[in-house]
This record gives sequence, structure tokens and C-alpha cells, in this order.
Amino acid sequence: MDYQKLAELLYPNVTKTPAEIEAQFPPRNLPEGAKVTRFAPSPTGFVHFGGLFPSTIGERLAHQSGGVFFLRIEDTDAKREVDGAAEGLIRTLSHYGIHFDEGAVIGEDGSICDKGDYGPYRQSARGPIYHVFAKQLVREGRAYPVFTTREELDALNAADKKAEIKARDWHEDQSEQKEQMLRARNITLEEVEENLRAGNPFVLRILADGDPEKKLPFTDLIKGKLEIPENDEDFVLLKSDGIPTYHFAHAVDDHLMGTTHVIRGEEWLPSLSKHLMLFRYLGFRLPKFMHIAQIMRLDESGNKKKLSKRDMGANMDDYSRMGYSPACVCEYIMTLLNSNYEEWHMQNPEKPYTDFPFNIKKMSNSGCLFDFDKLNDVSKNIISRMSAEEVYSEVSAWALTYDPAFGALLVRDPDYTRSILAIGRGGKKPRKDFATWADVKPYMSFFFDECFRIEDAYDEKFDKADIKHALSSFLASYDPADDMNTWFDKVKAIAREIGYADDMKAYKADPAAFRGNIADVSMFLRVAVTGKLNAPDLYTVMQILGKSRTEARIKSMIESL
Ligand code: GLU
Repeated sequence: MDYQKLAELLYPNVTKTPAEIEAQFPPRNLPEGAKVTRFAPSPTGFVHFGGLFPSTIGERLAHQSGGVFFLRIEDTDAKREVDGAAEGLIRTLSHYGIHFDEGAVIGEDGSICDKGDYGPYRQSARGPIYHVFAKQLVREGRAYPVFTTREELDALNAADKKAEIKARDWHEDQSEQKEQMLRARNITLEEVEENLRAGNPFVLRILADGDPEKKLPFTDLIKGKLEIPENDEDFVLLKSDGIPTYHFAHAVDDHLMGTTHVIRGEEWLPSLSKHLMLFRYLGFRLPKFMHIAQIMRLDESGNKKKLSKRDMGANMDDYSRMGYSPACVCEYIMTLLNSNYEEWHMQNPEKPYTDFPFNIKKMSNSGCLFDFDKLNDVSKNIISRMSAEEVYSEVSAWALTYDPAFGALLVRDPDYTRSILAIGRGGKKPRKDFATWADVKPYMSFFFDECFRIEDAYDEKFDKADIKHALSSFLASYDPADDMNTWFDKVKAIAREIGYADDMKAYKADPAAFRGNIADVSMFLRVAVTGKLNAPDLYTVMQILGKSRTEARIKSMIESL
């Protein structure tokens, strides 16, 4: 076979050589050890929690080493593409602190454009580049065309949405497949010319020289030492519309873009032998690979299951709706990614996660377990250490979108809201009330008269007269100018006045000697003022509510008893 002639027949319009293309993508000028990583999503829907994993790893490895992290949009499957998905993806990732140095970005007019010297960064715009390398493979006898007639393709298209895939795939029966492959490999130049004249479409297949009995030693940075059977499948490089398959685009793009570390889901591991073959045929240097295990969750019976697209917590947009701060989600991801992260974080509570020396070796090679309880724990810790100002700005932004009525209350008097959010903040043991911004409303809505109502009733065991007495005495002696100790001394005095112990020790020593205790008196006041049995420190609550609101609530409780 005259491969040179075959190449010219198939790709008469491709005039550039691989060397010319290589010259357009010179090696990157980076310091020793700098890693170049990428996130390469297909714009087929939302960002999955599982997608935040490889992107966070890529971001960390690149930026920790002074390298480059870029975004490549793998939009070679127009049928599966969802409108606006790429834009949504970029926005969501940036919400979670995943910023790219180059790649597809959202331009000023809101549409996607390229930033950087190694583009285009959308595979759909890289057609001519793939064709140069495809032609080279044909020229070297490494790839060959397989024709179908237009009618066959159309018939398949009409019958089945997956027609394109079927049309380019071999027979399912292995031995039949081999024969089919060998027949196709033996196509003559005359047959090629005939098909081209008839306008028949073709896919371009690799001519595989592997023997699956032979195993290639391979080290994956997460999975460790592996043995990969050689590839003997003549897989498709270019589909009949000239668009590359993932395999071919991956090899060409990661080579030209200078990727040093390919970080991707383990579902690509079975295709690795194809990729090793392609890099070898194309004469490309092999990058390092990290195949990440699927994220797992526990189902109702406690069995591990893959976190699927439909599971709660899979769609990153869910987290915004639920009111998770991106900082908390990032922190949680770090705890899942590196086993020693939590320890480091405990020793360095003030440092951002980006200061943590992320280490590939500390990654687990089996699937991480996704767990809302753990996320909530992490989240409460993070929020407890935020300043009141930070909390104010995040919670008000969230509420204005997801609970506008409450949002409006929060921003009506920012100083008032900030003083509420400052309760229990700043000390050694800050309060841990919020895992999500949605937790803020039940915690503090009583501060707003519009939301205030008595949610918890007094226990029947208390004498109503005692409660009334205590509340009235409080009103009589209440002075908002009192400091905390004076305020508390007055509450103690009320306890004594109604025959309650003013000291818990004394009460516990002889409960029968008292009608109740100081904690009960505080509770009488708490329910009257906050409507709840549990609320933040009551002295502070009254200070923030102010004299008239506090008094009005106590009076109204007295009247209702
Ligand atoms: N587009 C591929 C995917 O979404 C990318 C895999 C890779 O990172 O190479 O699975």
C-alpha cells in the first residue's frame, strides 16, 4: 500500500505537517518541577461533586509547583452537549475557588473565548490540528479508513440515536470482529478512490499492533504499579464527520498543551492501553497519569454505592441552594483528598487550605466516602471561625437569592444583623451554630419582630404564678445599662424572691428545699424574649434587642399567661 498516496486521498486539504504544528506550541518556559495540569470537562450538564475532585487536585498541584492549570472544554460530542453548560461550568468552578491560568474563559460579552497561547481550548475549534496528526498516522501506515455508505449511515441515524457509535464500532462477536477488522485493513487504494468518488463517509481507525497477552508495566500516581495489556483494537480516531474521539483528542491536546499530569476519573483506566499506543505512534512523550476513584456514598442500608448524578449532593449547584459556603465545601474536599489534611488544619486553624502542602502520596486509591454529616461538621468549624462581617456578607447574599423576605430583614439594618452574628464569635471556643446559611434563620429570626413568635411552651410542671412573678420582677429591676454580672445578680435575686435556688450546687444538694432553680428562672426569661428554650446568651440577646423590644416581649408573655 502506498500510504503517502492514501494520506493524500483522504486528507487532500491538510497541508501542514506535525512539525509545523509543534512549532506553534513550543515547550512551556516553566521552573524545574512545575506541573501543568488541566481540567477537561465535557459540557454535558452540571458540575458533579466528582468533578470538583480532579479539578481541585489539578489546581493544587499546578499552583503549588509554580505551574499552569488550564481549562479545556471537550465538546466533541455535539449530541450530548447542553446549551450554556460550559459557561455554567466555568462559573461554578470559580465559585469554588478553582481558577484557571489559561483556557476557555467567559469573555466580557458573556460568551466563551480563549485566554492563553496553547489554544484553541475548545476541542470543537481544533479540528485542523487533529487532522494534521491523523494524516501523519495514515502516512506512516498507522491508521486507515473504514467506509460506510451515506445510506447506511442515514439508516442507522434514523433507527437509533447512537447510530454514529454503532456505525463506527465493530461487530460485537469477538472473532467476527477480528475478521471484519482484517477485511477493513486490507482496503486497496482503488477501493478508497471508489468510495471517495461515491461520496461515502469514513471513520479513521488506528492500526493496532498490540498483543493483549503482553502486559506493559505502568505506574499510575494514585493506583500504583499496574500491568496494562497491550491494545489490539483498531479503535476510531476520527469519526465520519472528522471529529476526533476522546482518545485521539486527549493524546494530541495533552501533548501540544504541555500537560505534565493527566488527572482524571478511573473510568478511563480501561482505555489507557489505547492512549499508551497513541502516544507511542505519535512519538509524544507520555505525561504522568492519576486515575481517581469514584466517589462513594452510603445507601439506606449502609452499603457503599457510587455517588450518582441523581444523588443529593452530586450537583454542585445543590450546595449553593442548600446554603453551603464554598469555603466549607473546599475544606471538606481537602479532608477527603489528603488523609493528613485535618491534622494539619488543626495545627494551622488560621491558614487557608491553599497553604497546605498537598501530597499525591497521601491520596487514597479507593473511593472516598461522601457524607453530609462530615461536611456539616467541617462547615460548622469553618463558619465558627469567620468574622461576623464575613458571615454577614455571605448569609445576606445567600438569603437575598434563596429567601428574599428574610434576606431583606438581614440587610435592613446591617449593624444590627452584624451584632447578632457576632455573638459567641472570636473567642477560643466559638459557637458552632451554622453548617449552612439556611441554618441562620431558625437560629436568629427571633431578633426580628416580623419573625418572632413563641415556639416553645413552658413545661406544665411550672407554676404559672411563679413565671409571672419572675417576669414582672425582672421588668421592675431591668436596666439595660447593667453589666453582665449586675444583670445576673438581679436574676439571682428574683430566683430567691420566688423560692428558687440561686445556685445550682445548692439546688442539686437538696432539690426538695426549693420550688425550682436559677436555670429555670433564666429559661422563663429566655422563652419570653426569644420564644425558644435554646438561644444564645440571654444577656447579650437583650443587649442587642434593646430595652423596648425586650420589655415589650416580656410584658406580652405576662399578659398571655
Ligand atoms: N472529557 C473527559 C471527561 O469528562 C475528560 C477526561 C480527562 O480528564 O481526560 O471525562
